[in-house]
Amino acid sequence: AAVSEALADGVLNVGTNAEFPPFEYVNDAGEPDGFDIALIKAIGEKLGVEVQVDNMEFASLVSSIGSKIDASIAGMTVTDERKASVDFSNSYYTAVQYVILPEGSAIATADDLKGKAIGVQLGTTGDFIAEEIEDATVSQYNKAVDAVNDLVNGRLDCVIIDKNPAMVFESKFEGKVTAVDGAQFNFEPEDYAIAMPKGDTVLVEQVNTALQELIDDGTFDALVSQYIEE
Ligand code: GLN
Repeated sequence: AAVSEALADGVLNVGTNAEFPPFEYVNDAGEPDGFDIALIKAIGEKLGVEVQVDNMEFASLVSSIGSKIDASIAGMTVTDERKASVDFSNSYYTAVQYVILPEGSAIATADDLKGKAIGVQLGTTGDFIAEEIEDATVSQYNKAVDAVNDLVNGRLDCVIIDKNPAMVFESKFEGKVTAVDGAQFNFEPEDYAIAMPKGDTVLVEQVNTALQELIDDGTFDALVSQYIEE
């Protein structure tokens, strides 16, 4: 089978933003870890290349693909805007935005979000959704945990972020916040995929083949059980 030029040096340079547990976070040893990191390393093993992970800001991932990095894995949602600059693998996970509320909040419907102070992670789909909400004041954070801290401190009315990180933050800030399914606010499901340079169909094909092998041999499900509380 053909090999992408991106892999010719035997290394797959992958960008992530390790502020998005359980998909990516910095572990106790100071290394990027999490479901996405384990998945991309397993893909690298299938492809016979070394995986190097670059921890960067989420908002600069897409524009770095094809220059600074060969690909990104970052709980990244497939969107038409991103598809204009990168190609995506097959989707490996389905999520939805959640709304994190302080304990005792009266916010319960899409209408209730109007005019509120909303925290988001910069450049994410949660950010794009929040900016569409009428009269909302949106605060953008590089680190999601900083948004949740501001929520707990009373500086925000809610935080909009993906389901699984929302659930992790709900446990981390137990008794102080509640994570509510975005379906209640009419948010649509989102598909996560690995982003690669636009037009590198060979790389996309290689990654999709490796991903399918990991699904077929049970590795994928084992990683889901290891990292993701569903
Ligand atoms: N899924 C969201 C997006 O793609 C958030 C990803 C993230 O913060 N790592 O925008």
